[in-house]
Amino acid sequence: MNQDVKVRIAKNSGFCFGVKRAINLAFEASQEFDKIVTLGPIIHNPQMVAKLQEKGIEPVNNLQEVDGRPVIIRSHGIEKTEYKQLKLMGIPLIDATCPFVSSSQKYATKLSKESYKVIIIGNKHHPEVVALQSYIQGEALIITSPDELDGIKDTKLAVICQTTQQIELLHGVVDYLLPRTKELRIINSICTATKVRQESTSELAKKSDMMIVIGGKNSSNTKMLHHISKKWTDTLLIETADEIKCKELSSKKKIGLTAGASTPDWIIVKVYNKITKCLWDKKKTVTNVEDIPGYREEN
Ligand code: SF4
Repeated sequence: MNQDVKVRIAKNSGFCFGVKRAINLAFEASQEFDKIVTLGPIIHNPQMVAKLQEKGIEPVNNLQEVDGRPVIIRSHGIEKTEYKQLKLMGIPLIDATCPFVSSSQKYATKLSKESYKVIIIGNKHHPEVVALQSYIQGEALIITSPDELDGIKDTKLAVICQTTQQIELLHGVVDYLLPRTKELRIINSICTATKVRQESTSELAKKSDMMIVIGGKNSSNTKMLHHISKKWTDTLLIETADEIKCKELSSKKKIGLTAGASTPDWIIVKVYNKITKCLWDKKKTVTNVEDIPGYREEN
């Protein structure tokens, strides 16, 4: 018996402006130089990193490994001292830091010059946060929950966020701090691309009996989409189409698809194709497939 299955793709999925820009800069640079390095992977997507390696773009772990080759600064940015050292090395520099990340770094510099005690909401091990912290004089307080603010005393506080954080967390931190300080400066540095991806994932998850989140398992924003989606429905987090097992979809009637800001189009297309292949014997209603950038070119 034919069952009707709905496959929907979240309105805002895949590459954001900053990632697109970084990848384009990297491809352009590969036409000019044979060998290039990025300090750390250019984006948190292993498949895209592998594709760039084919063009001679290698991720390295530190400045010692640069070995005189041109350097692409990835979208998350790098630490202030590393940037200065690279300048001194006199090698070609391609700065692919996302303009939104650069803007946060400028705010961080300004806030610490104005003597605010800066609180960063984010993951202290994430490269964006590590870089952001380097723009603050003295020590910033890096938190992931208002619970970590217990006992905070300064009279002049400022809050800034990793671009992929959720607005609810910023609200929670502000609510906690407001009654406890004389002056509170809030920089809402949560990126719109992150926000719209989170909102459309949540919207679609509410209407689905299964969600598939596609993206690097080392990507903060992808993990956040997974976290959000899980609150509403059964959710799979995958990097590639091969991870989908058709039997997991067999009883589903409303399947939703979303992808992190560092997930390339061709991976989304492959996942979509795998899903439709799994559902070969079912009547399918597919919506928003044209929202997958690159869908037309690859089919
Ligand atoms: S998620 Fe936002 S801040 Fe991060 S790279 Fe993309 S556009 Fe830039």
